[in-house]
Amino acid sequence: MTVMQQSQRDTAPLSIAIAGGGTAGWMAAAALSRLTGCRVTLVESDAIGTVGVGEATIPQIRLFNRSLGIDESEFLRETRGTFKLGIEFAGWRKPGESYMHAFGNLGRGAGLLPFHQLWLRGRELGVAGDLSAYSLNEVAARAGRMEMWPTGQGPDLPWAYHFDASLYAAFLRRFAEARGAVRVEGRIASVDRDTDSGDIQSLALDSGERIEADFFLDCTGFRALLSGASADFEDWSHWLPCDRAIALPSAGDGEPVPFTRATAHTAGWQWRIPLQHRTGNGLVYCSEYLSDDEAEATLRAHLDGEALGEPNRLRFTTGMRGAPWSGNCLALGLAAGFLEPLESTSIHLIQSGIARFLAMLPRRGATHVMAEEFNRQSRFEWESVRDFLILHYAANERHGEAFWDRCRTMTLPDSLSARLDLFRATGYLHREHEELFTEPGWVQVLVGQGILPHDTHPNADALDPSGLARLLGEIESGIASLVDRMPTHAEFLRRHCAPQ
Ligand code: FAD
Repeated sequence: MTVMQQSQRDTAPLSIAIAGGGTAGWMAAAALSRLTGCRVTLVESDAIGTVGVGEATIPQIRLFNRSLGIDESEFLRETRGTFKLGIEFAGWRKPGESYMHAFGNLGRGAGLLPFHQLWLRGRELGVAGDLSAYSLNEVAARAGRMEMWPTGQGPDLPWAYHFDASLYAAFLRRFAEARGAVRVEGRIASVDRDTDSGDIQSLALDSGERIEADFFLDCTGFRALLSGASADFEDWSHWLPCDRAIALPSAGDGEPVPFTRATAHTAGWQWRIPLQHRTGNGLVYCSEYLSDDEAEATLRAHLDGEALGEPNRLRFTTGMRGAPWSGNCLALGLAAGFLEPLESTSIHLIQSGIARFLAMLPRRGATHVMAEEFNRQSRFEWESVRDFLILHYAANERHGEAFWDRCRTMTLPDSLSARLDLFRATGYLHREHEELFTEPGWVQVLVGQGILPHDTHPNADALDPSGLARLLGEIESGIASLVDRMPTHAEFLRRHCAPQ
């Protein structure tokens, strides 16, 4: 670009209209108003409301909150949040068994070998404990403990949060409005487009008001009002067949534990998410194998604590929109697609969509190349999350239950099959640089679901058995004594959330 062209550049701030004020809409409004000079208007309809679920997160949310300058204890107080160190999967391999996908590392590796290779060799030699004993997060979570150390001055104990999603949206609304975002209450009745380019020109509200903007974010949830409900939607329900959920909070029963629990049932699974003031519960199920009444009965029969209010019923199709960014409109949140909540990834996918959009922020007139690249990166991210979710379903040993038999015998995506073949051969795990889930995360789920390699890395043969036994013992006892010295999660929460 020449100096002359630079001086002619249009420097008026980009105007962005956000349709929808659920978690996606307010996360986007908060980020745009804090981190860009864009003019932000958000339209939402109180009469329509939000999906009203979505309470468990993964550690990346801390980056989002930190980039906005949100104070953690204020955030936890306002959203009645708790800490989350991982997810327990109960009954997923078979009834009566459980394992955890805990955040953070497993043990420590040696030379070329990642820790799981040492553990596999230790198992062969009969000197290794259960894999869970080498995860600080899991041992702390199961003991109901939590601690935090100044960055770089303590062990690695990454955390995420459980929180009340509607309180989080309200918190972000106050944050965004204080930074200039304008909220408009009203129902969007139609979307006006340029007849040639197809770009959106304005949103027409029931009141007759028109919201014009340079760029639009479709955060209208499953309705996907701006992007079209079915256009370019890729249906993944043949791999992730659950299509309904029923949510019902209950009164908290004692101190909140610092982990999410996902319990497998005959045709789906139940989540349990402890907050400060209540417990979030829900059953995700496949309507082909379980009726709505059976689902409600199953959920009620497995509630800890008294049910609060009436159940919230939801229907969905798992899959993603092939082109979330099209023309001058980007779909975020449920409007972009839905991978079921098993690994608490939806809010993260909103966050990563926002981060990607901020990095590619267009000048006036969205550029086609940006959209293509955005969509390519989204696809990669969604497909890798999808594969991780499928693994939990496919590698089950719940023989004789029709839903689980179907999941065990389905044809897997090639990308997942290839990964499983590599792991089965010598415990090798291949992860692309930008993948969301870590190597320890994959290992915990693979081993937890009963998939063990046929062999180990050849370098593991050279490990001295007594040295290996000593190393494993030291890691295990080091973790156990560290956890013994940590405060309980409830004590920590009280201390951490106390107003300064
Ligand atoms: P919504 O919350 O549906 O918001 C849509 C917005 O659009 C609302 O403000 C609505 O008023 C507005 N709107 C719609 N139509 C119009 C119109 N015509 N005019 C004006 N406004 C309109 N995520 C996680 O990260 N962790 C979890 O544990 C988790 N659990 C989940 C469990 C279930 C069963 C489901 C279904 C989802 C779960 N999610 C979870 C996903 C999470 O709930 C959503 O990703 C998140 O809430 C974002 O929703 P949204 O903002 O896209 O849509």
